[in-house]
Amino acid sequence: MIKDYIRRDLKDFTPYHAPLKEYDVKLDANENPYLHDEIVINKVKEWLDDCNNIRRYPDTDCNELRNALAKFWQVEKENVVCGVGSDQLIDCILKVFLEPGDKVLMPAPSFSMYKLATKLNRGIPVEFTLNEDFSYDVNKILNLYNEVKPKCVFICTPNNPTGNIMTIEDIEKLLQKIECPLIIDEAYSEYIDDTMIGKFRKYDNLIVLKTFSKAYGLAGLRVGYGIASKSMVDTINIVIPPYHLNALSQFLAKIVIENSQQYNKKIKEIINNRKWLIDNLKEIYYVDKVYPSHANYLLIKVSDADIAAKLEKHKILVRGYGEQGELANCIRVTVGTEEENEQLIKVMKKY
Ligand code: PMP
Repeated sequence: MIKDYIRRDLKDFTPYHAPLKEYDVKLDANENPYLHDEIVINKVKEWLDDCNNIRRYPDTDCNELRNALAKFWQVEKENVVCGVGSDQLIDCILKVFLEPGDKVLMPAPSFSMYKLATKLNRGIPVEFTLNEDFSYDVNKILNLYNEVKPKCVFICTPNNPTGNIMTIEDIEKLLQKIECPLIIDEAYSEYIDDTMIGKFRKYDNLIVLKTFSKAYGLAGLRVGYGIASKSMVDTINIVIPPYHLNALSQFLAKIVIENSQQYNKKIKEIINNRKWLIDNLKEIYYVDKVYPSHANYLLIKVSDADIAAKLEKHKILVRGYGEQGELANCIRVTVGTEEENEQLIKVMKKY
């Protein structure tokens, strides 16, 4: 039986699965709802016209994209590492640092990939719960750090799915005490003004992860990157697979970052739409709480546990968290375009 050959610790694992659902309004994955600008679309068409772009292997070192990112963030190319989504970088960081049985500290609730990737890399996830309002408790994290002596620590800011941040001052408090790699996941930091990028000059155990999947609308092309000290980048590169990031993804991510001002307008619109959505959600009788958010999604506590399923019947997708755990009776709604948000509220009001 093929099952007898599986790694013992993976025997009970089920594959990650995200069922395809029909939709008119998709507010379940924190993507950018706006279309790309014509400049960007035309560049893709030009790129596809040259079939050499497809016949050849991509640049395994992602030189042009890393140069563009280095220019954008005013760092050196040697401080940038690219991945097939930031998911791949999370995996590679754990792959290069963990010995079997090593512990990894991470927030709960937070992005599920930290836990999954830790287990897949034979590590042990150790979660620290957030405060009741989902804020981070720095002293609690430091106490746990001293107790469990982890190999890596993850912080997600703004945190997915709760929308709260950890302030730069608090992150620096951690960095003054934490010696192991500290991963700051800034997948949604385009929606706030703060970033830890640049601080690697002071802390060589810091790595900041970013993605093109959210504010920059390239989720389908899977491009993420990390910015860190040269020694951190060199270390992660040990386990990055050859030719990992395909040529179209590298090219388009470069075009997008070079045209970032186009996206800034859309980021502002999302922030305005978020305010409209909060005001309107609060008027719905079965909405118990809308948590404050610094990102392009809202965590909402509802007293109608079936609302995600009901919305799905109207082809509106949101993320539901069921009735158990710290997110019991919560849904997460991505902030959409004005029309999408209006559609959501209209249907929610029917129930
Ligand atoms: N970090 C966070 C907090 C996320 O929410 C996501 C996507 N849901 C990712 C990382 C991964 O992004 P990607 O792999 O698409 O770059």
